[in-house]
Amino acid sequence: MKIDGKVIETFYDHRQIRCIPESGGILLGKLFGELLIIEQASVPGSDDKRGLFFFHRNKKRAQTIVDQAYRESNGEKAYIGEWHTHNEKNPEPSWLDRSEIKRAFKKSKLNFDFIICIIVGNDSELENLWVGYYAGDKIINCQRIISSK
Ligand SMILES: [Zn+2]
Repeated sequence: MKIDGKVIETFYDHRQIRCIPESGGILLGKLFGELLIIEQASVPGSDDKRGLFFFHRNKKRAQTIVDQAYRESNGEKAYIGEWHTHNEKNPEPSWLDRSEIKRAFKKSKLNFDFIICIIVGNDSELENLWVGYYAGDKIINCQRIISSK
């Protein structure tokens, strides 16, 4: 899996380094052979519900972003999952996060047969991203991530 440098910047810009609400959004990307490339992360808007320990994104705006990206990339760039921040150094998905990943996998119109969940910690190291992969069986923590900074 490769994460575009712009996406990494978006994550870092929204780190919970102070007592600020959780941030989050959707992830868009494409498959290049066997390599999954995460190309875009949407940022929070005023229509999202945010708290210190939760983030609920606005569905309608997310769909608009997905549709637009799909159009502009001639159907290459698609929805691949969700991201949000945690106010901890080495983030781990909560019980709720895990059930939300599974729910999103079932409920979303997916272009691929898996969904990605990224949790952004409040440190500046790439290792402090928690990246999960779910394809209907178990949630797998992905270890091999490259950043194109
Ligand atoms: Zn969480």
